[in-house]
Amino acid sequence: MWYNRRMLELYMDDVIRLRKPHPCGSYDWRVVRLGADIGLRCLKCNHRVLLPRSDVERRMKLIVSRGRPSPAGGQEP
Ligand SMILES: [Zn+2]
Repeated sequence: MWYNRRMLELYMDDVIRLRKPHPCGSYDWRVVRLGADIGLRCLKCNHRVLLPRSDVERRMKLIVSRGRPSPAGGQEP
């Protein structure tokens, strides 16, 4: 939906969908940590993982929902 292929912007509490499901069956993860590595928590089983940003970009299918408003300036509907 908001996924921009040129540059992945993620914010805390975003919910993203990955291309492959977690063993528990869920595709959706919440962003719980930002940095060089992205912390994700499975919405279904609460399992937490830390993935390099490039990995997240490759595995992500779309952004399900935005957590906090964009720090860039509030033009999003
Ligand atoms: Zn899971």
